[in-house]
Amino acid sequence: MAKKKVNYLQGAEKTEQGLKFKGIILEPIVENCEGCERIVEFEGEKYCASYPRPRAKWRNGACNFATHVKAEIDKTGKVKLNPLKASKRAARGR
Ligand code: SF4
Repeated sequence: MAKKKVNYLQGAEKTEQGLKFKGIILEPIVENCEGCERIVEFEGEKYCASYPRPRAKWRNGACNFATHVKAEIDKTGKVKLNPLKASKRAARGR
């Protein structure tokens, strides 16, 4: 059986604000997180093993801990997301 990271959130408790874990409120992951290896599931919802507030990690560009995309900020300050596997293709397309 595949090992799951579920144990990470052992003892977590669902509250109205979000999932409470070790006194911290964890918010569910956001759409941009999909595919990231740091996602952990708890009772059918997905959370980030690295950040309690994934949404905040994406507010100013891309999450720097994402394992599924590589974010680059170009000279104009725009964030470019390259899916890791397609990064070569994406770079050529510029
Ligand atoms: S590390 Fe970043 S991209 Fe990955 S789940 Fe957490 S917040 Fe989302």
